Amino acid sequence: MRKLGRFVIDTHVHSQRHAAGSHLKDKKKETGKKGDFDYIDLESQMAAITTFDNSPRLLYDMDCYGVDMCILQCAFGMNNDLNLELVEKYPDKFRAMAFAKTTMDAILAGEKEWDMKDAIEELDALLATGKFCAIGEGAPAIPESAVNALRHSYSMSERMDELRLVMDLARKYKVPVTMHTGGPGGYPITHSRWPENWHPYWIMDLAAEYPDVNIVFSHGGMQGGYNTDVFKQCLVVTSNFNNVYLETGLYWTDLYYEALRYPNVGPEKLVWGTDWGASIPTQTRIGQYPQSFGMQVHNQGIIRHQCDVMGWSLKQIERLDISQDDMNLILGGNALNIFNIEFPLTRMFKGLPNVGRIKEK
Ligand SMILES: [Zn+2]
Repeated sequence: MRKLGRFVIDTHVHSQRHAAGSHLKDKKKETGKKGDFDYIDLESQMAAITTFDNSPRLLYDMDCYGVDMCILQCAFGMNNDLNLELVEKYPDKFRAMAFAKTTMDAILAGEKEWDMKDAIEELDALLATGKFCAIGEGAPAIPESAVNALRHSYSMSERMDELRLVMDLARKYKVPVTMHTGGPGGYPITHSRWPENWHPYWIMDLAAEYPDVNIVFSHGGMQGGYNTDVFKQCLVVTSNFNNVYLETGLYWTDLYYEALRYPNVGPEKLVWGTDWGASIPTQTRIGQYPQSFGMQVHNQGIIRHQCDVMGWSLKQIERLDISQDDMNLILGGNALNIFNIEFPLTRMFKGLPNVGRIKEK
């Protein structure tokens, strides 16, 4: 596959992998569980499993598919330190988002109750180092296993007030905020953990209250499966506000076209991101629409290999019959602009006069 754009950035990458095998074996002994663990078991354990650096596989795929840079994100117990090590080792290849890992660990260990203020305090210290380009993955939220123990569902105003604290912090450091949307099918994402995940329309108020803060919908409403209702809501919000962007997640070709033709969306509002490393396998259903899509399917069991999501996703984009200048925005230009990343030249990306200029914080 030829390189698809002038500068290609995958804005959603997990470079850490969970060493789940031995942990799950111990759990099996402890609980007396028969048979294989499934995605739901795995999700409940992931935050407690040690992660390791998976960058050799990531660098292989980047080289294979002509991906210049990746924005590293933490999820499920992944830690900021490993991501920063990569950023420091390969400054022209990686950037990292800030994640409130210590707060999450304390909640899981039963040392703390959930309080957004703790997460904000931790993120404040991380962003003050100047080493992070955004807040993510998603806005801080109670870990899923703690939600179940809490047996509490958020009211809209309760969660919106928490999200306003995140937006205040993003404004202070002039960084974008990611809001998680969609679900992979296997790991459950409940309303109580991330209500905004299932209610993208809530983000309208934040976009209006903070017009100077950029918001990126992680996965753009499509993290798995082929039901498009969350995607369609994300599209409406993105269309209504200049400061809201769609990460293209697991979009198949026609979803790109739908976003490209939607008024006020278009190539200026799309940023490519795959969720590389998230263990979401690609499903092929010949003759069905869409013929291939990402999803964790319970009866297939947990995926063991490094699913090739970059290759699949770039093939969906390669099929787009649009100008190369538009492709360049989706594949990297918009991300350079939103995440405030340096670029050696000006005037290489349509309508983005700030890309390539010296950055001021
Ligand atoms: Zn992710």
